[in-house]
Amino acid sequence: MKLFFPAVLMVLLVGCGTASRTVSLNMGPSGTLILTPRSGGGPVALNGHEFETAMAKLARRVRPSPRPQEAAQRLFDVETRSGSYTYEASSRRLTPLAPGAHLKEQASKAEVELTRDYMHWCERTGRPGDCLRLLTGSRTLDSDGRLALCMALAKASVLDEMSEAFRDMADPQAMAAAVLWTWTTYMVLITVPEPVSKGIAAVMTATLIAYVGIDTFWSLIVGFRHLMDEADRATTFSALREAGERYGQVMGRNAARAFAMVAMAAIGSPAPALAARVPKLPSATLAAAQAETQMGIRLAAVGEVKAAALSAGSLTLTLAPGAVAMTANSQGSRRFSKADRDAAYEKSQDAAGRARCEYCDEELTREPGRSDTYEADHRQPYSKGGPSSGDNLAPSCRTCNREKGAQDLDTDWIPPKNR
Ligand SMILES: [Zn+2]
Repeated sequence: MKLFFPAVLMVLLVGCGTASRTVSLNMGPSGTLILTPRSGGGPVALNGHEFETAMAKLARRVRPSPRPQEAAQRLFDVETRSGSYTYEASSRRLTPLAPGAHLKEQASKAEVELTRDYMHWCERTGRPGDCLRLLTGSRTLDSDGRLALCMALAKASVLDEMSEAFRDMADPQAMAAAVLWTWTTYMVLITVPEPVSKGIAAVMTATLIAYVGIDTFWSLIVGFRHLMDEADRATTFSALREAGERYGQVMGRNAARAFAMVAMAAIGSPAPALAARVPKLPSATLAAAQAETQMGIRLAAVGEVKAAALSAGSLTLTLAPGAVAMTANSQGSRRFSKADRDAAYEKSQDAAGRARCEYCDEELTREPGRSDTYEADHRQPYSKGGPSSGDNLAPSCRTCNREKGAQDLDTDWIPPKNR
């Protein structure tokens, strides 16, 4: 793994799946706002066709570098320095070894075999040669190359979709490799040595959380740390494949598409250009709604996020001075009171006592985490000034609430029962 390490050992964030998270919006002189993300966030749906269309469009303005890894390191301003590290599960620490040192002296025979298996895999998947541009710096797969290969194996289906999206371009493989390296380098940057991202990486972090939700984002970082360690230790293709596929399961398809898309949008972009592109990406409306419920920011203002820092249980976003990204200011709280929520639930019940979604008539449940879970929707969107008072509360199922997002009722968004 080539990465800049400070001389001290780094204590990494503890992956604790159950801790309740908080988000701090640091607005400089205007103070800090702390909020608790609404539960139930998750990856927004991105369908394959929209994904491919968006990828093709985003790729048109980019000329892929013949050395995608170096290009990605330049994009994120990552200083390179050779080094491996070990991950200790008990202390949850990544310990860098001396520069240039390896975990163990690997039998060069194994490296050669691994490299050959990788080339066979490229061939089998219809992309003959060094399809992921893993061998531009060395003749065999180094630890960076193994990690990038793990990421490719983690979501081979999304890699196929990219090849499809780029098929009319001069060099589809080079473009897919550019996305892969940008994605992998970003992940390394926010995972090690300390999970603080600035500049373009900060905009990517806020955008990705909008697309996948803070919990999924978190588990992908925790999982990536294990993946780095596994990729460093793996000596065979099948070991890399197993590690990659395990990570792919944590990720899921919608999250994989979101990461690939945001990486594609970031290639060759200064942060403001990426931020301007974000609201035009597919499913941006859903992501915008999630940005508000999970981070309290408007996705359209994601460029105002100057730094994003993750630590156990909390995310801190540092906003530009005078930023207007915040949504929860003059209107009061975004949350309805418990009394209003309970009253609206009661009121939505039909003659048989079954609570119903105001928008689609589906029966509601108070059990959390389901598509028919009761949620209190702002009939007039909160982001457009709708208050959190009982008369603006529509009892809604989770599906309708998410689908509606910040859209205006009846003009932008027609409830399913009226379609
Ligand atoms: Zn509904």
